[in-house]
Amino acid sequence: MNYVILDLEWNTAFSKSTHSFVNEIIEFGAVKTDAEFNETAAFERLVTPRIGKKLSGRVKQLTHLTNEDLAGGEDFLSVSRAFEDFVGDSVLMTWGTSDIHALIENFRFYNRDKTIPFLSSYCDLQEYCERAIDRFDEGNQIGLGRFAEIIGVSFSEEEQHRAAADAYLSLKCMKKVMGGYPLEQCILKADCEEFYKRMLFKNHFITDLKDPDVDREQMKFSCDVCGRQARRLKKWRLHNKSFDADFICKNCGRKFTGRVSFKKRFDGVKVNKRIIEKKEKTEEKQEDT
Ligand SMILES: [Zn+2]
Repeated sequence: MNYVILDLEWNTAFSKSTHSFVNEIIEFGAVKTDAEFNETAAFERLVTPRIGKKLSGRVKQLTHLTNEDLAGGEDFLSVSRAFEDFVGDSVLMTWGTSDIHALIENFRFYNRDKTIPFLSSYCDLQEYCERAIDRFDEGNQIGLGRFAEIIGVSFSEEEQHRAAADAYLSLKCMKKVMGGYPLEQCILKADCEEFYKRMLFKNHFITDLKDPDVDREQMKFSCDVCGRQARRLKKWRLHNKSFDADFICKNCGRKFTGRVSFKKRFDGVKVNKRIIEKKEKTEEKQEDT
């Protein structure tokens, strides 16, 4: 089994033909390894943008790439074909799924391809690495540079935000935390419709109580003092993306506000429940979950 760790840089440009913004890929950087994660090959190519002829200031600042660097080079299809040969049947890995989103977008735009031809299995290294140090939290993802700092992997700030440097740094981070979590559990089969559904699924909060994914059982609250089931006093009200209702415990007299939220994800609904003090809004701090 081989692995390819890929990082992309892209520039956001407005397409007049589709009347929408496209994250146009301008650089591929990747490192290939054997099963023990020893480097066996590298891939580094610039892509000449076709939609956005001029790089945005932010991209220039971040990547230190110039319009001249990109002019007169290869187009997306020729670079992606070369990359397809490079990947072969390796497991593709990226730090976070935004590179996969950019690939899907670019293949659709340039090739009308609904799928990524070199993708057979995929691992999100950000999720893997976070799980390996027991810091995985969907709502609070850790950027690559920050992650390297946390685990004490040194890197030069100057070199980051170029594709190859970021791919190497991702590899270094993975090797440092390897063993903290079974890697197989983070490798997804990617040559199927389900993979694209998963990638393109937009997590969202359910804000309609009639939604069939709202589990009514989760809207019952027990008293946090005596443990008995509390009684709801008023109707549920929507508060940001949560539902709030006032409760009273008939046993001990405790009054509180019950708050519950339902987050719809590809794999199911994540319920978050907590008790907050009534009308003491200054105490409503965000909890770590
Ligand atoms: Zn009570």
